[in-house]
Amino acid sequence: MADCVFCKIIKGELPSYKVYEDDLIMAFLDINPINKGHTLVVPKEHYKSTLETPDDLVKHLAVITNKISRAVLKATGARACNIGINNGAESGQIIFHTHWHIMPRFAGDGYELWKGKDTTYGEGEIESVAKKIADNI
Ligand code: AMP
Ligand code: ZN
Repeated sequence: MADCVFCKIIKGELPSYKVYEDDLIMAFLDINPINKGHTLVVPKEHYKSTLETPDDLVKHLAVITNKISRAVLKATGARACNIGINNGAESGQIIFHTHWHIMPRFAGDGYELWKGKDTTYGEGEIESVAKKIADNI
């Protein structure tokens, strides 16, 4: 897409710190990292989010993300990482071109994920939520 930042990076119209490339995928450093080594894994073809991305490409993204994650850990000395995928604006997605975050994590680095409100199910609600999801697969 003409006005997409990641399409421009893939076409070489914007600079990036590339760590990996194959026919279908490119990976480069996030310019606003949560920790040094934070890497984005991006399909070359433009899809709005992982939800719209074809299954075969998602499989390839998963394999390559896992491979690059091991390299990020080795390169940064981290022993752990989060893989992050934001699908849609309400989830925090700001670039609407599929990408998976590899975020190296360190003890005491100050991040706490999913901290927040208590969400509890009402009487019988958990069963109906599970059924609704199962029925939609
Ligand atoms: P998301 O919230 O999942 O859409 O995250 C988009 C990510 O892209 C953010 O972490 C940004 O820091 C990162 N980002 C935005 N522009 C660039 C760029 N030109 N090069 C590398 N990373 C970028
Ligand atoms: Zn794009």
